[in-house]
Amino acid sequence: MAQSKNSKTHEYDSIVIGAGLAGLIAANQLESTGRKVALVEALDILGGTSRPVTTVAGTVDHVLKLFPVTDDSEDMFAWLESVLGFAIEREVIDAPPMIYEDAKFKPFVGFGDQKVETASEIDAYAKSRFYKLATSPKDWVPKLVETFTGTVFPQSYVTKMQVDDEFVIEILVNGSKRLSAREVIFAATPQQLTRILPDNAVPARLKQKLLKGEFWTSANLDLIHAQPVTDAKFVHILKGANEEPSVGLFHEPVTLEDGRTVQVSQWTTLVARDVTDEAEIVGSALKQIKRQVKRAYETSLDGLIKERIVVIPTSHGEMVGALADDGRWPKIQNLWVISGFMDSEKNLVGAIRQARRTLAAIAGEPVQVVEHDTDLHEAPTPTV
Ligand SMILES: Cc1cc2nc3c(=O)[nH]c(=O)nc-3n(C[C@H](O)[C@H](O)[C@H](O)COP(=O)(O)OP(=O)(O)OC[C@H]3O[C@@H](n4cnc5c(N)ncnc54)[C@H](O)[C@@H]3O)c2cc1C
Repeated sequence: MAQSKNSKTHEYDSIVIGAGLAGLIAANQLESTGRKVALVEALDILGGTSRPVTTVAGTVDHVLKLFPVTDDSEDMFAWLESVLGFAIEREVIDAPPMIYEDAKFKPFVGFGDQKVETASEIDAYAKSRFYKLATSPKDWVPKLVETFTGTVFPQSYVTKMQVDDEFVIEILVNGSKRLSAREVIFAATPQQLTRILPDNAVPARLKQKLLKGEFWTSANLDLIHAQPVTDAKFVHILKGANEEPSVGLFHEPVTLEDGRTVQVSQWTTLVARDVTDEAEIVGSALKQIKRQVKRAYETSLDGLIKERIVVIPTSHGEMVGALADDGRWPKIQNLWVISGFMDSEKNLVGAIRQARRTLAAIAGEPVQVVEHDTDLHEAPTPTV
C-alpha cells in the first residue's frame, strides 16, 4: 500500500472514509473491481475498533468481540472468507448467558421490571449461541491492510464534503487537503455526516434521527488476570442494585514463557452519549466494571497484570431504516454509508452485512479477491 503525503487535489474512482473492518473490506473489494481507491483514516493506525492489540498474553481484539449465531451468519462468514481469502475456522458455543445476582450466577432472561437504560443494547450481546473463532477481527485486519494496494491517507480526518447538483464533488481532509472521486463511501460514525455535509444536504428527518436518536458510548475494560479465574464460556452479565450492567467474557487461559498461566477477560458497559464529555462519568463506569467483576470472582483482581481502558464514543445505537438498504444518502447520488447501526444485527456482523449490501449496489455482487496464496500468519501486524 502506498502512503500519500502530497497536498494537491487527487482524483480517485472511490474514496473510502474510515479504515475499520467495514472500510477495509470496502476498499479491498472496490479495488478488486479495478477501481483506483483511496482509503482515508483519522488515526495513524488502521483497523478501527477491530485492530489487533499486543499484550503479554498474546494478541487480542481491541475490544470485546462477539459473533452471535444468526440465520444468515454462515452466509456472512462464507462471504467474508471470500473477501479475506482464507477459511475462518469456527465452532459454535452453546452456552446461555448468565447474570450474577444474589451471590450466584443464574440464567439471564432479561432485566424484568428493573429500570435498565442500556437493556436493549445489552440484550443484543446476551446470546446463547455464538462463535468461537480460530481467527478474529484482529487477524482479518492485517490481511486486509496487506492486500490493499491503493493509497492510504493516515492521520487524515475528513472535516467537510462539498456537494453540487446531487454529487459530492470534493472532500476536505484535515481542513486543507482536497480529494475527489466518482463515489464516496463513509464507513465511520454516520452522525458525523450532519456536520461534514452542507446543511441543505441533510434532510431534516434524518438529521433529527441522527442527532436525537439513542446512541451510546462504550467504556471497555480488558483485564489480564494473574491466574486463571474461570473456565466458564458463557457471556457474563454483571450488575448490582442501581448499576447499569456490564457484559463480557473470559478467554481461555494462556501459559506465558515464564511458566505463569494468566487469563484475559474483556468487558463493556455503556454510557449515554450526551454525558460522556465528563471524564468522571466514564471513569466511574470503568470502576463499576471492576467492582462487578470482583463481586462475581472475589480474587480475580488480585495481582492484576494489566488493565486496558478503551472509550469509544457513539459506538452503540441504531438507525435501521434511516437510509436506503444499500446505505445510499438521500438525494446524493455518489455517497454511501456503511455502519452496523443500519442493520438489524447492530454490531460488527451488522457492519459486515451492510458493507456487502453497499458494495453490491455500487459494483454489483463484489468481485472476490483473486490471489490468496499468502498465509495469514505471514501478514504483517499494523503498528498498534
Ligand atoms: C448491540 C451492539 C453490540 C455490539 N457488539 C459488538 C461486538 O461484539 N463487537 C464489536 O466489535 N462491536 C460491537 N458493537 C459496536 C459496533 O459493532 C461497531 O460499530 C463496529 O465494530 C464498527 O466497525 P466499523 O468497521 O464499522 O467501524 P470502526 O471500527 O468504528 O472504524 C471506523 C474508522 O473510521 C475512522 N474515522 C472516524 N471518523 C473519521 C473521519 N471523519 N475521517 C476519517 N476517518 C474517520 C475511525 O478512526 C475508525 O478507524 C456493537 C454494537 C451494538 C449496538
